[in-house]
Amino acid sequence: GLPGVGFIGLGNMGLPMARNLLKAGRRLVVHDLNPAVAAPLTAAGATFASSPAEVASAVTGEGGAVFTMLHSGAAVREVYTGADGLLSACKPQTLLVDCSTVEPATAREMSSAAAAHGCDFLDAPVSGGAPGAASASLTFMVGSDSDAAFAAATPFFTQMGKPPVRCGSVGAGLAVKLANNLALSLQMLATAEAFSLGKAQGVDPHVLAQVMNVSTARCWSSDTYNPVPGILEGVPAARDYEGGFATSLMLKDLRLALDAAAAVGAPTPSAEHARRLYRLSAERGFASRDFGSIYAFLEAARGE
Ligand code: NAD
Repeated sequence: GLPGVGFIGLGNMGLPMARNLLKAGRRLVVHDLNPAVAAPLTAAGATFASSPAEVASAVTGEGGAVFTMLHSGAAVREVYTGADGLLSACKPQTLLVDCSTVEPATAREMSSAAAAHGCDFLDAPVSGGAPGAASASLTFMVGSDSDAAFAAATPFFTQMGKPPVRCGSVGAGLAVKLANNLALSLQMLATAEAFSLGKAQGVDPHVLAQVMNVSTARCWSSDTYNPVPGILEGVPAARDYEGGFATSLMLKDLRLALDAAAAVGAPTPSAEHARRLYRLSAERGFASRDFGSIYAFLEAARGE
């Protein structure tokens, strides 16, 4: 059969990604700090491991892979280099692939640590959100120091998404991801502001969406992930911004992008302003809600 795979971090993204590896016929071993979240996977045939080390030892070296999808660089470090971490038990030639959005420097550190254990590390952050994870249509932005490792990881990527994009060496996937999410933070804010303006003028939001989605302001935040309740089904806005991509995670990505920009002297005046607005929104109770709740934040502000 196909080489086995480990998956650590079964949150909004990791759970549906891991499910697609299982659907593709892979032997799957999973781990999360919260074992309860693994229930849908173990019910479908996956094995739960009680630590990252146990995941690593259950995956064969050559051809096998361990994916991580975690919320922070600190969590990635813990999972890789902690006491019961992946590196304490991984077999040589295991592919170690981190899909989390974290500091590019974290990826380079994990890559050196992995190399010391004879393993290849790839940074492979994703775009497409929870819907893209569920429908196996994620875009993987991959940093790899080796052509062979990228080639070996590709069959895993294509079972969870579109053909992956090799962005450069380790860290380059994250550099691309941070630029993408800087644009996304502004695009969502612009969309929310436009719908708020439309509503304040008495325009039907369905009409505005119909026009915007075939006009110059057409974008993912409007036509695929519209933040206004009632426009689209199956998006966070349709369920009071539950699930999806939390405002706190967007704030994390803006921090990462602005840190990266500061390090190279890139100008980011709009992103700095967006960060202030998402921060205010988080303080007003939307921190764990999907970032499209910036629309609800603006609507609440209109009354003030
Ligand atoms: P999440 O918070 O829903 O999931 C994280 C999971 O990791 C949780 O289940 C948590 O219990 C687990 N975890 C945390 N620390 C752990 C540890 N030390 N060991 C084992 N498990 C641990 O986050 P998410 O929304 O799935 O996002 C994950 C990453 O993907 C983030 O870096 C985020 O920026 C990125 N991302 C998210 C989206 C999105 O739409 N949600 C889109 C693209 C990229």
